[in-house]
Amino acid sequence: MTEQRKLRIVLVIVGLAAAATVTQVACEGAPINFQLFAQGGQPAKPDYPIKPVAFTAVHLNDEFWAPRIEINRTASIPSAFEQCELTGRVNLFERAAAVLRGEKNVDTRPPGYPFDETDLYKVIEGASYSLSVTPDPKLDAYVDGLIAKIAAAQEPDGYIYTTRTINPQAPHRWAGPDRWVFERDDSHELYDLGHLFEAAVAHHLATGKRTLLNVAIKAADLLVKTFGPGKRTIWPGHQITEMALVKLYRVTGKEEYLTLAKFLLDERGPGPYPEGERANPRGLTYNQAQLKVIEQSEPVGHAVRAVYMYSGMADVAAVTGDQAMRAAGKRIWDYLVTSKLYLTGGIGASGSGEAFGQPFELPNMTAYNETCASVGMDFWNHRLFLLEGDAKYIDVMERTLFNGLVSGVSLDGKTFFYPNPLESNGQHARQEWFGVACCPGNITRFMPSVPGYLYATKGDSVYVNLFAKGTANIDLPGGAITIDQDTRYPWDGAIKMTVKPKQARRFAINVRIPGWARMEPVPSALYRFIDNAGAGPTIKVNGDLVPSPTLSPAASGLARGYFTIDRTWSPGDIIQLDLPMPVRRIVANDKVIADSNRVALQRGPIVYAAEWPDNPNGKVRNIVLPDSNTLTAEFRKDLLNGVEVIKGRAVGLAFDAKGAITRTEQPFMAIPYATWANRGRGQMAVWLARVDAAAKPTPFPTVVTTAEITASPLPNGRGKNPRNIIDGEEPANSSDSTAYFDWWPVQGSKMEWVELKFAKPSMVSTSEIYWFDDTGRGGVRVPASWRLLYKSGNQWLPVETTSTFGTARNAWNALTFKPVTTPALRIELSMQQSFSAGLQEWKVK
Ligand SMILES: [Zn+2]
Repeated sequence: MTEQRKLRIVLVIVGLAAAATVTQVACEGAPINFQLFAQGGQPAKPDYPIKPVAFTAVHLNDEFWAPRIEINRTASIPSAFEQCELTGRVNLFERAAAVLRGEKNVDTRPPGYPFDETDLYKVIEGASYSLSVTPDPKLDAYVDGLIAKIAAAQEPDGYIYTTRTINPQAPHRWAGPDRWVFERDDSHELYDLGHLFEAAVAHHLATGKRTLLNVAIKAADLLVKTFGPGKRTIWPGHQITEMALVKLYRVTGKEEYLTLAKFLLDERGPGPYPEGERANPRGLTYNQAQLKVIEQSEPVGHAVRAVYMYSGMADVAAVTGDQAMRAAGKRIWDYLVTSKLYLTGGIGASGSGEAFGQPFELPNMTAYNETCASVGMDFWNHRLFLLEGDAKYIDVMERTLFNGLVSGVSLDGKTFFYPNPLESNGQHARQEWFGVACCPGNITRFMPSVPGYLYATKGDSVYVNLFAKGTANIDLPGGAITIDQDTRYPWDGAIKMTVKPKQARRFAINVRIPGWARMEPVPSALYRFIDNAGAGPTIKVNGDLVPSPTLSPAASGLARGYFTIDRTWSPGDIIQLDLPMPVRRIVANDKVIADSNRVALQRGPIVYAAEWPDNPNGKVRNIVLPDSNTLTAEFRKDLLNGVEVIKGRAVGLAFDAKGAITRTEQPFMAIPYATWANRGRGQMAVWLARVDAAAKPTPFPTVVTTAEITASPLPNGRGKNPRNIIDGEEPANSSDSTAYFDWWPVQGSKMEWVELKFAKPSMVSTSEIYWFDDTGRGGVRVPASWRLLYKSGNQWLPVETTSTFGTARNAWNALTFKPVTTPALRIELSMQQSFSAGLQEWKVK
């Protein structure tokens, strides 16, 4: 085992006057000697210097989280299990077991994806967390039944990967001809096992049963036997196995799992690879193998894979003391919060490759911000806090948690977003399930664990990181304490904490003063408040104001974002934290082109969005919100399960019939971003125009804008809506990512179509198309060829033309044809070999 080490987290002592009741102390790093998941009877091993207080010890009865956690238990988990049954995910295990029993006539067709089994693992993990808080014998028994099916699908040597077991000769085409050889590409064998391990640990800790844990151990032992120093090499094409192995190590104490986790990280990089094995053809940056992990600085590639890997790096750094890995994680985080973080805390700007964009490339309508990436962000930020003891990681975690993560699930817990854009023209809606169904499962497993993010301990001191009404039972070396929080956070910044040690004794409580309450929306220059903060936060202990943790950390008792109160606490002592919550205006760094001349609104930790039902004419992209207009907040208990809304006056822009702009003074309202899209499809915007030029008024209705548009469907149905093609907005160029439609990831198709059905038969004679093409960034190109048809009776007939069917980039491709009076037009196109296709805009006259 690695050497026992001491991690010194020295809290800077600043000039705090020695008050009778409050002093600032430097917390000398104690030996790292606890486990993330407490295991009775096991010897202490090195781990994170800060220990989270488990979600099972924190009971919330607040307005924001408690209802969401309950809906997750009563709606999301049952519906996700149901989907796993309906879509054949459970059946995959049954079929694999049947093959192993030697049954004949088993359905050997491959699954939709070789990672379909992870969805079941994730929901079992979520159900286990839920069971550990709320006993439910029926759910417990159902999970037992699923685990029996999983165990029966495991091959005798521990291998578990249903598509290969079901049909070793012809598994899913991503699986590769043999075990592991396509792992660096997209076989997902290790990814599947990672989710199995996470589920197994959760189930074991929740129920004490070893059924799923034994399956996981058997599979992990196969990995240890196969891979590692002096054995075969490998690294996961889709990360998660690294952090999952660390969890399995904590529960079992088997150090070979930790060694393997570190090996999987150390081996990652640009080859060479053994013969017959290959990396992902999308390139090494796609799954963060462009450099050795300890050499990386920039977050790149597939965002979910990235944050899962960074989480694993933090775990391995914490447990092994690997300082190079620790430093790499901090560098990558700095890069991310400086240039690749959305205001909602989402990450992953680009749908192409589900990936990070370039620095400051943060488009709003096409923002990918996968729900899973937000979940991974919170895993990672929490781990960095546990490693570094700095509240800046909690600031980012809180931003993601309250905004870009909970936006992933509807208020009724039944539908989910895959991407979480910051602007919509009505093309986005949550769905019950997806072909690639990672996001619903991730929500089900994340929500029950939210109370575990509130508190942490280090030695005999406590960190209060998040605020929510409820009770925490916290074990400290000097004796257990209880902290009761009474607050309406996030709607109100008044937080009353009652501290209850068994008897009076001295210890320190570190109270986080959120960045947003200190003029710092993010710990970088990416976003800044533009208005006056007003009064700063205050803390009182038993009614006495203590030196204020005001806005300048250097001049206050604030260190690393915490206000430390080190005193003798008596049962019933009260801390009153007041975090004023005025409505704040935020602007982005000038380098973020998508947000230029735009403003966003935040109140407390909540980022706001204007949505169509609350603003005149069902439009918000046309709104101009001048900086001088006063905004107020008001609680609406009738709306969206009870939310604080922002109200004021704005200006609405519109086009008249002559194409001139009209300006109308009108009321304005914004709702918490996370609650948008619960009232049907329509416009939404987080970044609102500050000046007329930035607003996007809807064009005056034409034959096209009033038409109905449909396109050949995508196999995965990931919420792309062809309406963007006729939104009347002029594209800046072919790669403009504001509002387009494409068929990605369909490539090389010879037959895709778009149809325009007019409100009434119309005479048309010209068509102008602006193709979408993201050369240099993605896999979409102008089409190889296309043609235009019109509807005549039940037939589609080609238009009569002498024009050429243009495929120019960055230009309008005009086509004139013999006038026809028709109810509908249709484009048919053929993609270039190995590329997809798409349209920015289509005009018809
Ligand atoms: Zn996902």
